[in-house]
Amino acid sequence: MNAVSPRPATGGPAGARTGAAGLELRGVAKSFGAVDVLKGIDLSIAGGEFVVFVGPSGCGKSTLLRLIAGLEEVSEGEIAIGERDVTDLDPSRRGIAMVFQSYALYPHMSVAGNMGFGLKMARRPAAEVEAKVRAAAEILHLTPLLDRRPGQLSGGQRQRVAIGRAIVRDPDIFLFDEPLSNLDAELRVEMRIEIARLHKALGNTMVYVTHDQTEAMTLADKIVVLRSGRIEQVGSPTKLYEDPDNLFVAGFIGSPK
Ligand code: ADP
Ligand code: MG
Repeated sequence: MNAVSPRPATGGPAGARTGAAGLELRGVAKSFGAVDVLKGIDLSIAGGEFVVFVGPSGCGKSTLLRLIAGLEEVSEGEIAIGERDVTDLDPSRRGIAMVFQSYALYPHMSVAGNMGFGLKMARRPAAEVEAKVRAAAEILHLTPLLDRRPGQLSGGQRQRVAIGRAIVRDPDIFLFDEPLSNLDAELRVEMRIEIARLHKALGNTMVYVTHDQTEAMTLADKIVVLRSGRIEQVGSPTKLYEDPDNLFVAGFIGSPK
């Protein structure tokens, strides 16, 4: 599979495409010492789906992403990506790339250098690194900026480089942890459209945490509302908006019940 070749759309569920690995969480729990942060999460994400996690600060959204990425070990439960059980697999072998709110770019390296750094460290041939960086830059409209340093870029362009760094790794699944929260309102709108376009172009499974209701409603095929380490409700934006299970969900999605 090439990093940037679009996957053909199928007639399946919204956003689903052939070839993209899905994600399965079974009874996933996480405790830090005596504190139970996640309490038995069961969730199926279809290949190619765009899933958005929302919920109050501290409810466990970032922890759940970190468990999926393998940056933390589960206390209980199983995680499968595609057909593979990855519960005990090293992060680098899960086929996942994560984009954070605060993205540290190397200031002394060019945009191309930043984007290709991970592949270079993995000792991939220079020609392959360059081809993948060029392809990702094309998708993100970064081609004219490849020789610049991060200090010569706007905030939005820098965040695009951070996303590009994830794309060149050719992941099955993208994890985004509030990637736009540090940007101003106008740029957030621009980047939101960019991310929707990216999802269309790549067809990957995307799991996206946000505080922003508009981001959730416009990006998601499926919204997962979390509360105190449990799933409160899962559904399409329309379903949660028109038929929330309770006031808590309604409050997050913005419709009174
Ligand atoms: P969210 O992203 O939804 O705001 P987090 O997943 O960051 O929430 O945190 C959930 C809870 O887990 C918080 O109470 C936080 O303090 C706690 N927590 C997160 N990481 C650790 C850790 N490494 N050690 C101890 N507690 C943690
Ligand atoms: Mg968080």
